[in-house]
Amino acid sequence: MQTHTLEELKDRFAPTARMPVVFLGHGSPMHAIEDGPFGRAWAALGQSLPRPKAILVVSAHWMTRGTTLVDVSAMPRTIHDFYGFPDALYRQQYAAPGQPELAREVVTLLHSHRAEADDTWGLDHGAWAVLKYLYPEADVPVFQVSIDMAQGLAHQLEIGRTLTELRDRGVLILGSGNVVHNLRTMRKDGAPQDFALEFDALFADRLTDRDFRALADRDGLGPLLTAAHPSVDHYLPALTVAGASDSGDALTFMTDAIDLGSVSMRSFIFHPG
Ligand code: ZN
Repeated sequence: MQTHTLEELKDRFAPTARMPVVFLGHGSPMHAIEDGPFGRAWAALGQSLPRPKAILVVSAHWMTRGTTLVDVSAMPRTIHDFYGFPDALYRQQYAAPGQPELAREVVTLLHSHRAEADDTWGLDHGAWAVLKYLYPEADVPVFQVSIDMAQGLAHQLEIGRTLTELRDRGVLILGSGNVVHNLRTMRKDGAPQDFALEFDALFADRLTDRDFRALADRDGLGPLLTAAHPSVDHYLPALTVAGASDSGDALTFMTDAIDLGSVSMRSFIFHPG
């Protein structure tokens, strides 16, 4: 017979307080193995968040077209989806279990957004490179949801709005991308590009104003969006997280630095006020 400690029973059966939603700017894969301010900030965040029952990750690195895939595997594999990095990075493993039951519920929840179950993906570095700091024991079940690159920006806000109810069930919705992400304009000396500073500040202002429509308005954002995001893959998870917020949430920014000239490391948390 299985026995549980009193603490475990409390954790299993107590009603769950509404969870925060988190967006992390993940930047270079090297942050996963190099000690630095970003890893330290992610570790501190992990210790300050309420402990989730599961984590749903929307990563910039799982791109699909015409569908939103949800990983329903029992043990998601660690994917090393980058090239030309040191061996130590390829040896990284993040062996957290999946949460197939909840993931299948998410497929149903996102049915009108053309969601489908998938058991081939796993955890890409957008997920594990930050999770290893947030939850170093890899003992919280985690599964990824893809971004549909065939849809407009507002679609990702809608996905977030649909997922928001999971916050009341102890699920941490975690977006991982970058508020500015242009790898063609990186600078070795790290001096921020003007467009990077401009888009990063505009994003923070609109987010603070809860003007999510402006953040999803491709025409309104114009050439500045194209400069900040030649492809919007790293931008979309920020919109998912914005969509999953509600008007009662407080907003906190962290690590608002431009790295490598044109990668914004800005992260943000919407948490019940
Ligand atoms: Zn990335």
